[in-house]
Amino acid sequence: MDKHTKELITALAEQHTLPIEDYLYLIANRTEEAAAYAAELAVAARKAIYGDAVYIRGLIEISNICRNDCLYCGIRRSNTACARYRLTPEEILACCSAGYALGFRTFVMQGGEDAYFTDELLCALIREIKTRYPDCAVTLSLGERSRKSYAGLYAAGADRYLLRHETANAEHYAALHPAALSHTERMRCLSDLKDIGYQVGCGFMVGSPYQTETNLAEDLKFVETFSPHMCGIGPFIPHRDTPFAHHSAGSVPLTCYLLSLIRLMHPRILLPATTALGSLEPNGRERGILSGANVVMPNLSPADAREKYQLYDGKLSTGAESAQQVEALRQRIAAIGYTVVSARGDAK
Ligand code: SAM
Repeated sequence: MDKHTKELITALAEQHTLPIEDYLYLIANRTEEAAAYAAELAVAARKAIYGDAVYIRGLIEISNICRNDCLYCGIRRSNTACARYRLTPEEILACCSAGYALGFRTFVMQGGEDAYFTDELLCALIREIKTRYPDCAVTLSLGERSRKSYAGLYAAGADRYLLRHETANAEHYAALHPAALSHTERMRCLSDLKDIGYQVGCGFMVGSPYQTETNLAEDLKFVETFSPHMCGIGPFIPHRDTPFAHHSAGSVPLTCYLLSLIRLMHPRILLPATTALGSLEPNGRERGILSGANVVMPNLSPADAREKYQLYDGKLSTGAESAQQVEALRQRIAAIGYTVVSARGDAK
């Protein structure tokens, strides 16, 4: 690692900010040694705040029906090969019940932008979950909605909202999405969510088509200045039935390096070791934790829903709906020196 790289990583750990050119320098000059140094400082920063705790979130994939046509996504509207499903409110509540018994204290409802899930239906569902499980947090990841809708869902009891910004660069955004979707609208959503009072998560794919190192530096600067409570980053993985079928997947080591840099800029951030990371490499999620991540999101969806919620090829689809599976996860995390805790796991 050259002297300047080491100085920049150290400065990020101490001051939590860098000019965009320096983020670009760190990305362009990444070496194994630099990544190991960043990971060492990131792990120390996280330990100082969260100890060895890893939070688990129960992911419930409520629908793969989507009005959008994002070019990278396997559940995009134009994919006629995708077998569609949606869970009923009763099925979602059954996932929460099973998850609660297994120690989950956060439920994440994620899905395509499916008009079936009206504000009325979602508010009633959120109220029911919060009444049954007052000690649990409800996280939503349901895409772009109006400010009024976000405010209503928050008033009904939703605590957190995950909405990846996907890329901080408007031109790159346009290369990944159809003309009907706009970068400005995505940013409007993120700013409304924060304003309303949600704990907000943004995020991006690493190695998405046409992404440049400058784009990644822009993403880091955006994450720094937006200062989200959570940030989901994972490698892009192609899906065979999308226009990006023949693009190559993102890199696990680069994703891990970026996780470390994000931990250094925001030591208190909740940073998942994502399913995409675990899908590209068998020990991908462990590598994420060893780079500074402190959250894993095992899947509580019924097995047939998990199989149909294919955002990309080869998605890790072992669920966490049984005690044995959660125990296996605990053991894997324990084997690298961390402890899965049963807590809401709000940002400290
Ligand atoms: N519809 C909601 C939204 O837009 O936020 C939530 C579901 S969306 C499928 C969740 C995330 O999956 C996206 O934000 C995107 O970053 C990620 N994703 C989609 N296709 C992917 C792919 N091919 N490889 C990796 N991640 C992907």
